[in-house]
Amino acid sequence: QSAVSSQVRRTFLDFFAQRGHEVVASAPLVPQNDPTLMFVNAGMVQFKDVFTGKEKRPYTRAASSQKCIRISGKHNDLENVGVTARHQTFFEMLGNFSFGDYFKEEAIVYAWELLTKVYGVPASRLIVTVYNGEGGFPADEEAAAIWRKVTGFGDDRIQRLGLADNFWTMGDTGPCGPCSEIHFFHGNEPDLSRFGEEPRIDGSGWTEIWNNVFMQYDRAEKDGPVTPLPAASVDTGMGLERIASVLQGVTSNYDTDLLRGLVDRAAQLSGKRYTGSTGADDVSMRVIADHARTTAFLIAEGVMPEKQKREYVLRRVMRRAIRHGHRLGIEKPFLHEVALDVVRLMGDVYPELNERRELIARVTEDEEVRFRATLKRGMKILEERFGAMQSTDARVLPAEAAADLYTTYGFPLDLTQVICAEQKFEVDVAGAEAIIRGAEETDGPINPEAALDPAFREARGRLQEPVTFTGYDAEEGDSEVVA
Ligand code: ATP
Ligand code: MG
Ligand code: MG
Ligand code: MG
Repeated sequence: QSAVSSQVRRTFLDFFAQRGHEVVASAPLVPQNDPTLMFVNAGMVQFKDVFTGKEKRPYTRAASSQKCIRISGKHNDLENVGVTARHQTFFEMLGNFSFGDYFKEEAIVYAWELLTKVYGVPASRLIVTVYNGEGGFPADEEAAAIWRKVTGFGDDRIQRLGLADNFWTMGDTGPCGPCSEIHFFHGNEPDLSRFGEEPRIDGSGWTEIWNNVFMQYDRAEKDGPVTPLPAASVDTGMGLERIASVLQGVTSNYDTDLLRGLVDRAAQLSGKRYTGSTGADDVSMRVIADHARTTAFLIAEGVMPEKQKREYVLRRVMRRAIRHGHRLGIEKPFLHEVALDVVRLMGDVYPELNERRELIARVTEDEEVRFRATLKRGMKILEERFGAMQSTDARVLPAEAAADLYTTYGFPLDLTQVICAEQKFEVDVAGAEAIIRGAEETDGPINPEAALDPAFREARGRLQEPVTFTGYDAEEGDSEVVA
């Protein structure tokens, strides 16, 4: 059976559809039902109210492949991107859900059958984990017993972990319960003694691929006691890129057909070779590949690189990618080219990309042109500063200087920090922030960069309307971009 990612996604959804699950389209990345969340970061988000019973659906089982971004709040993987083999800011989460329907037994049987029978993953390369009771909830002996029965594993392959890894909560209140993870060993001989170690940078070692959450308790008050939920539920999540790497026989998400074409594009644009190493150039290429996806998907939903919260996160991600391109020696705007590859690669599965192709290219290029100009100005000023600081042995860039770069030249504070850190200088960030806040209080919000093209603003309202779901069937485009 083919392991191309479109097939891996399709197989997952078909497997659960055949077992009575409604296949539900990915919700938008911008949460529709949760003002506390910046971006959807798990498959369960669109079902939150169904789990709590606030909302009723005509089905009690569902499956989806959900667009996720983990770049803020409790789940922030930004600093991991490019550095670990398994994290992106943007990824797809495959999930099956039971709303008070089946519970642990079926969930475990399904997961095991799909992995080992349908996908053909060797059991010898898998370890599962269950909750050990740390923190006072009952240890999940029930799940351990089911795993033992279903897999034949002994205790060495049914690991017991604590609250941080194996107990899930929706928030300070609401549904919660133990979870059970499945880990895969990348590399030559599966080595049980290495479980719990961070996988090596090439990806070898034990990597979590699938998390099964068993919602069985409810908590009415923060830190209060839990009571059993009237109907226990299941929420699972498996990273598409992670299972694709397993099935494609590669150790890194960035070597799967979902990402490798984008990495190769970054290599081609920079005239350098990608070697899959920990070297700075390879890290930069992976960062560009990931951030181009986040960029394309967010702009497709009408999020523009601007100064409000969510918009600013996008801007920072884009600028981070551009900075990495800059350090690879790419001299002209390039991020829009990688973003267009994202459209080609995934537009059949996510039609919003095709529909907003022109806009994605235009907004991305525009942002890069503007940022490169800012970068040039800011770098020049900083270099003069560094020269002066070196002659007096000063190690800290004064608050006024950092604030002035921002208020007068639009040079973001975080970027000033990154560049200073590269040169082993510090920045008086707190001081600079205080000055900027003060200036904003008297003069209103500072927007030193030219306003966005009014056409983008006008387009935004229209863009935030939902896109028609055409199904996950499309396949053709998925392997098109192998630059
Ligand atoms: P990890 O410990 O590797 O950071 P996690 O425990 O934070 O993963 P979960 O919150 O359990 O991840 O999410 C469910 C699944 O989603 C994970 O098992 C993994 O397959 C996938 N996943 C989570 N974060 C990422 C990411 N940043 N990039 C790609 N896949 C991810
Ligand atoms: Mg994580
Ligand atoms: Mg984990
Ligand atoms: Mg997990």
